[in-house]
Amino acid sequence: MAVNEQLTKEYAKRLDKKNELKAYREEFYIQPDTIYFDGNSLGLLSKRAESTLLQLFDSWKRYGIDGWTNGDHPWFYLSESLGKSNAPLVGAQPEEVVVTGSTTANLHQLVATFYKPEGKRTKILADELNFPSDIYALKSQLQLHGYSPEEHLVQVKSRDGQTLQEDDIIEAMTDDIALIVLPSVLYRSGQLLDIQRLTEEAHQRGILIGFDLCHSVGSIPHSLSEWDVDFAFWCTYKHLNGGPGSVGGLYVNNKHFGTAPGLAGWFSSKKDKQFDMEHTLTAAPDAGAYQMGTPHVLSLAPLLGSLAIFNEVGIEAVRTQSLKLTDYFMTLIDAELSDYGFVVSNPRDAVTRGAHIYLEHTEAARICKALKENHVIPDFRTPNGIRLAPVALYNTFEEIWEVVQILKTIMNEEQYKKFENKRDVVA
Ligand SMILES: *Cc1c(COP(=O)(O)O)cnc(C)c1O
Repeated sequence: MAVNEQLTKEYAKRLDKKNELKAYREEFYIQPDTIYFDGNSLGLLSKRAESTLLQLFDSWKRYGIDGWTNGDHPWFYLSESLGKSNAPLVGAQPEEVVVTGSTTANLHQLVATFYKPEGKRTKILADELNFPSDIYALKSQLQLHGYSPEEHLVQVKSRDGQTLQEDDIIEAMTDDIALIVLPSVLYRSGQLLDIQRLTEEAHQRGILIGFDLCHSVGSIPHSLSEWDVDFAFWCTYKHLNGGPGSVGGLYVNNKHFGTAPGLAGWFSSKKDKQFDMEHTLTAAPDAGAYQMGTPHVLSLAPLLGSLAIFNEVGIEAVRTQSLKLTDYFMTLIDAELSDYGFVVSNPRDAVTRGAHIYLEHTEAARICKALKENHVIPDFRTPNGIRLAPVALYNTFEEIWEVVQILKTIMNEEQYKKFENKRDVVA
């Protein structure tokens, strides 16, 4: 088809009409006159998530303490039951996943559990593009073991400042590495790593490997069990739409069941033993063992509704729609914005592309402010990145078309010049 036709608003509307997931947009609270392209930082509230949170309040009202074991969703088993509904999204067995803690807390737990320096193998392998919290956690774990992070944290370098080469990561899997922790999708460029290949290569060298799935869970299918990944962890407030501060998730491969939790607490217990109140822990026989204390029940509740949507739609359908959205976005950017100094810095091919567009521009911080003034919500990532995430369940092709037009106007009218080129406190 002629590119010119693809550039029309009518074409975008036709694509929306054909979208098999279009009914789901109605399930979300979308602010009128606002284009929300930040679902990769904080997903929007769905009516189902709202309703399961209200149900939770109701069980608190009705049952008080007995809400732990009564009602439709007894709180005592929520982390496990949500783990079961989260499992298909990461390709795991139900008992391999539990919804607990947060990304950073779960990373600490998993490193405390699986980092066992021995002899020559004392180092942790990571990368230089990962989210800072992961790196801080790894460094502090090394320090707890009495190792200096300078020497014992190996961070694979990026050749272009945006992406990682699997070959470079594999080359760094030397015989002094005890553990590898990598992101599935890089938070800036959105590059999706080849988890299966990296896992195979790590295992050939006798190294355990885990992944941070923050930017892939809820947007990309995984087959963690089949790929034999040792462990993984993620947040649920980005693509999973669990709400601000919603409880995180973790996966432990069932071949590791029985490994004592590095950071134990009474919620690590086998459920029927927990209230025996013994001072010797009998750990749960599954991923439940890697919980610590009482779960943040109010921050679990929205996930009951939200995960139900994902399980109804299926993660494959989410990915198919997401790729169509980002494909279309890149077509419009190439045709309409290439004269204004924008560079598309996310991978273009469908195999390594995540779920967001990463546009670079020297004026990125103030362009983001101008977008917000135009009721478009992007996010800015230092030093010069604009992340734009068209989310499969609730964004439209027409919104993408609108945002490209708005960006063009911002550039033509130099609207960004009235703002400082500096990030806000929360960017
Ligand atoms: C969002 C994100 C985090 C955030 O960690 P929290 O403990 O949930 O605050 C960590 N790592 C990555 C890669 C992320 O994208």
